Amino acid sequence: MSVYTFGIDIGSTTSKCVILKDGTDIVATSLYNGGIGTASPERSRAEALIVAGLKPEEIAASTATGYGRNRVENVDHNVSELSCHALGAHHIFPGVRTIIDIGGQDAKVISLSENGKMKDFLMNDKCAAGTGRFLDVMASVLQISIMDMAMMAEQAAEPAQISSTCTVFAESEVISQLANGTPMPDILAGICESVASRTASLAKRIPMVPDVTMSGGVAQNAGVRNALARQLGVEILFSPLAQFFGALGAARYAYEKLN
Ligand code: ADP
Repeated sequence: MSVYTFGIDIGSTTSKCVILKDGTDIVATSLYNGGIGTASPERSRAEALIVAGLKPEEIAASTATGYGRNRVENVDHNVSELSCHALGAHHIFPGVRTIIDIGGQDAKVISLSENGKMKDFLMNDKCAAGTGRFLDVMASVLQISIMDMAMMAEQAAEPAQISSTCTVFAESEVISQLANGTPMPDILAGICESVASRTASLAKRIPMVPDVTMSGGVAQNAGVRNALARQLGVEILFSPLAQFFGALGAARYAYEKLN
């Protein structure tokens, strides 16, 4: 009989769930905008169960991770997001030794051992620049979706210079660029470069042992990914499941605890 385990990652902005079959096959993912303190964690859990075609009692073990992990009921384990991102990334890329995680409110660089355990980490949780928050603020100023941002940035002729390191000042700078007639793709490429350079200065303080991958929602932005790879001089492996690495690692942790 198959064994199903459940992982939930409650972030600052988004709730993510993964259900694993026998510790290996992903049978459901679900993502709801809204993190800690919202209805999204429970909605996300309910949707993942529907997608997998399972009843709650058919889940053998579950783990909560992320910023809001202490506020979830009906889970068996509670594990830090650093360990879960490491387990999740290792599940998809067994050779991964460095993870750059850019979420909605912070950025982390995590070193892994060969067996996918977290060895060391650095974090920026003091400043919105270099996190998803910076992209969210800019997307709102420019009235475009976070998904369209990367696509439009690809059409840039020359990325605009965003020199302010503060999100609030950078917002004024972007408005001035618009007023001066800088093309939108160039502004967007400049915004991606700016997030990448903030994260690169954090990442440079930890050895970039390959393979390197990204986790978190911002990993989906190819503009940030490519700028970061160029600025750090490394190849960055990409998985469309990058935003689910924490939840995946949590489901994997629940499975390992059963055995
Ligand atoms: P958290 O766990 O802190 O809630 P996530 O790792 O789930 O953070 O990432 C959420 C962030 O990812 C948000 O800032 C959101 O704007 C950003 N994001 C989500 N999808 C995309 C995308 N396609 N391109 C760029 N950023 C994205």
